[in-house]
Order: sequence, then C-alpha cells, then structure tokens
Amino acid sequence: MSYDPNNVFARILRGEIPCERLYEDSFAIAFADISPQAPVHVLVIPKGSYVSMADFSARADDAEIAGFFKAVGEVARRLDLEAGGYRMLANHGADAGQEVPHFHVHLFAGRPLGRMVAKE
Ligand code: 5GP
Repeated sequence: MSYDPNNVFARILRGEIPCERLYEDSFAIAFADISPQAPVHVLVIPKGSYVSMADFSARADDAEIAGFFKAVGEVARRLDLEAGGYRMLANHGADAGQEVPHFHVHLFAGRPLGRMVAKE
C-alpha cells in the first residue's frame, strides 16, 4: 500500500487539521484521540511518512525507529501514566481495523483496561 499524503494524520502533521498536541520532538508528535476509548487516549505518530507498523519497521532507519519508541515512552512518562499503568497498541491492516493509514501508536490509561483483545 502506498502512502496517502492526504490522510488525516498527515494533515495534522502539516497543521492543516487542529489537534490537542501533547508532545513533539524531531521524530514524533503526540495528540489526544478525537474519540477517546479510555480516560487517557493518546496517539503518537512518527513525523515520517509510513502507512503502518509493517511499513515503519521495514523502511524507517534505526534513528527514526529508536527516536519514535523513545518518544512513546517519554509521552507516557510526561503524562504520568507509568504508576497506574497503560496499554500501547498499534493496528495494522484490515483485521486489526486500522482506520488511518499513517503509522500510529495508541496509549490508553486511566482505568483498568480489561482483556487484551475482544473475544470475537
Ligand atoms: P486506528 O483504528 O487507525 O488504529 O485508529 C485511528 C484513531 O484515530 C481512532 O482512534 C480515531 O478516533 C482517531 N482519529 C481519527 N481522525 C482523527 C482526527 O481528526 N483527530 C484526532 N485527534 N484523532 C482522530
């Protein structure tokens, strides 16, 4: 799948769509999910153009991969999520229900989060 430069997260990165921006560094930005599924629901996205985890892990260079995952941890620390616990999740493709074709990690926190995946 080729990268669609007009996907909603690309537009957020370019500042064309507003978001509640919570963090930014040279590799990533983090912002609140527009439709939160938990008291804390944050999205962390790389600044580079990658469709999904599959694309990111295959094409991003080591610095981008390290920088991105360090940013995810930093966001969780800054939002004080470590003590209570949090869940990190990335959807890739149809079975996972990926809606936005720009690689992103969800961070959920703020209540007990239940099973890892729905039963069916
Ligand atoms: P996915 O299903 O692709 O893993 O998750 C996409 C997420 O992006 C969903 O949780 C959805 O609520 C969120 N989302 C979609 N459009 C927007 C938007 O315009 N702004 C923000 N902040 N989040 C969005």
